[in-house]
Order: sequence, then structure tokens, then C-alpha cells
Amino acid sequence: MTGWRPTDCHAHTRHSDGKLTVSELVEKAASLGVRPSVSDHMSCAVAKGVRTLDGVNAYLDDLQHYPVLRGGEFCWHDTLWRTLPPETVHRFTHRLGSLHAVRLADGSYVRAFTKQLPAGLTTAAYMQAHVDSLEHLAREMPVDILSHPTLVTLPFRQLPTDELWTEEREERMVEALFAAGIAFEISNRYRPHERLVKRAIDRGVRISLGSDGHTLEQVADVAAPLGMARRLGVRDEDLYDPRRHGSKTTVRA
Ligand SMILES: [Zn+2]
Ligand SMILES: [Zn+2]
Repeated sequence: MTGWRPTDCHAHTRHSDGKLTVSELVEKAASLGVRPSVSDHMSCAVAKGVRTLDGVNAYLDDLQHYPVLRGGEFCWHDTLWRTLPPETVHRFTHRLGSLHAVRLADGSYVRAFTKQLPAGLTTAAYMQAHVDSLEHLAREMPVDILSHPTLVTLPFRQLPTDELWTEEREERMVEALFAAGIAFEISNRYRPHERLVKRAIDRGVRISLGSDGHTLEQVADVAAPLGMARRLGVRDEDLYDPRRHGSKTTVRA
């Protein structure tokens, strides 16, 4: 089809922890032939995140001045997303849910960017908590996209893929996303392994492209995610685009 351009559903600006202004982001995306979104952190759990209802509305007011999709990245373990009134939710074009922390069996949290793990936490116990938390996210959060599905806590990030992602864990993730109608993001920043993406596609989970860019170099660069999606047989027009495929933000209670 003519005129199709990829949509970068996940990118940051100075509204949270990004380096660019909104107009700089728009300009960069245009130079790459990519449709831009701004999806800044709407969370008390992220440094520089937007933390209040007034802040969220001011953010959305500002984005209305630009030709961008109005996204937001919400932390599952934070409370802000649970408190937004429907009239504010409706102003987003799409929303992303993130596991920036997972909940252990004892109720404590392990953050994705921590360097210090609780004593004795095994990879298996952490991954169990990861997938359990993901299932909670999928059931609880009215989001359109799971951000960076394979982001795990820093100390485990270099472990072999097969140690982190057993078939059973992958299946539980994919099943949870499918049941909730949440898209799987192919993140350019935290690239998922192909077997998992293929499993999501085979199950009928929608695929979304995200730069998760914070800098001029990163923003709107979705070439590698797009390449992977195409290689795995996803049609361009089936890649998540809130205007084409809808969003939970527009569903009236
Ligand atoms: Zn994130
Ligand atoms: Zn992000």
C-alpha cells in the first residue's frame, strides 16, 4: 500500500527524561519518514516522570500543538495510572504499560535498573516473579502496548536468553498479552529475541514498533524492529497504529 510509514509508538522528550523538545522529535521523525509519538513517563516511580493529574493534563495540552500521537508510558508498579479520570485517559491516543519493577512472592519489588538484588534471589525465582507480574499487568492495566517485553533487572541482563526465557515463560507472556489485547513491542532499545517475537505473532498478538528513544540519535529509529517484523512475516499495515487499530483510551466506560 502506498503512503504507509512506520509509527514509532514509544519515544521520550524533555517532558520526562528525554533530551529533545517535542518539535525536535517531530523533525527527526520526519527526516526518517517515521510517524512520531511522544510517550513520556507518566509515573512517580521514574526520575523526571510526570507525577500528577495536573501534570498529565499539561503534558497533553502541550502535545496538542504538534503533529504527534499522544502516548504515555506508565509503570505497572506505580499508582498514577490507577487514578487518572476517564476524561484524561481519553486524551491519549495510546498508552504503554511497563514492568519497570516486578513483585516478588513476599510483596517486595525488584526494580529493572537496580544494581543490588535481594540476597539469594535466583534467576528462576526472579523470572517467575517477572512473568507473574506481567500477568497482573495484562489483567489490570488498560494499555495498548507492553513496552520492552524482555527488559529484565540489570544484574540478569547479560544472562543467556535461554536461561531467562524458557518456553513456558514465553508462552505465559504471549497468552497474557493475547487475552488482554495488548500489543508486543519490538523495542529498538531492548531488543527481543526472535523466537519470542515469532511466538507472539503466531498466537495473533499485534506487534508494535518502538524506538524508546531519549536522544536525537535514538528517537524514531525503528529500522531494526521494522526489519524484524517484516522478516517474521508481519504486514506493514498490521503493525500497531492507534488510528488504524484503535486504542483502549477511546473505549468509554
Ligand atoms: Zn520503559
Ligand atoms: Zn520508554
